[in-house]
Amino acid sequence: MTTQQIIAKARKEDRTLLTEIEAKELMKGAGISVVDTRLATTREEAIAISRKLGFPVVLKIASSDVVHKSDAGGVKLGLKTENEVGKACDDIMKAIKKAFPNAKIEGVSVQKMARPGVEVIIGMSQDAQFGPVLMFGLGGILVEILKDVSLRIVPLTRQDAKEMVREIKGLPLLQGYRGSEPVDIENLENMLLTVSDFVEKTPEIKELDLNPIFAYKDGAIAVDARVILNSVS
Ligand code: ADP
Ligand code: MG
Repeated sequence: MTTQQIIAKARKEDRTLLTEIEAKELMKGAGISVVDTRLATTREEAIAISRKLGFPVVLKIASSDVVHKSDAGGVKLGLKTENEVGKACDDIMKAIKKAFPNAKIEGVSVQKMARPGVEVIIGMSQDAQFGPVLMFGLGGILVEILKDVSLRIVPLTRQDAKEMVREIKGLPLLQGYRGSEPVDIENLENMLLTVSDFVEKTPEIKELDLNPIFAYKDGAIAVDARVILNSVS
């Protein structure tokens, strides 16, 4: 589906939160590399998709009523066998029904376990004064606790993107630290510019989060994507 088709479908269903699968499809269409992610509506389908993708896989709740999937017990990582996938499916359903008894559940998303990288985040939010603003930071506790992020107003210039990546305090983690390999920083700049272009062209989007992106010495890939649309009143 195209960006406009995905947005129209959500609007028709009166939702502002896109599912992870829809959000990844949007980002892929925009030129961002994302982990190939499929929807399974039954346990058997989850197992069949896992077999096709190849183990290990990740299962996540697919529901436009669940914003933070892992907080609700809705993410199971590193599943190595069909049995583990089946059990993860049951466990996710049980956890979500407990945490969100009224959630409309579409199924589970199935994706390959990505190889570990340095976790970074690209986010966009709308500012009342400045319009869309992009955020860059390192994933996990560095953003959540230390608020180690950089911000720029859309549209970004190449210079903005260069500065955003380099002005965070955690920069040494991207440049290679105590024997760890440096990541492809230019690729992260390109990702920022791509997201900037995309949000400029897509004013229907209120919030966007690629959290996390795994950055490698050669490229980077988003393993989660969240998109919230403006509400139309
Ligand atoms: P949440 O809705 O809680 O943000 P995520 O999809 O981000 O859920 O998953 C939680 C965490 O699981 C991520 O921060 C990441 O560390 C890990 N993770 C998610 N998807 C994958 C994947 N495909 N491969 C490897 N790790 C993943
Ligand atoms: Mg996430």
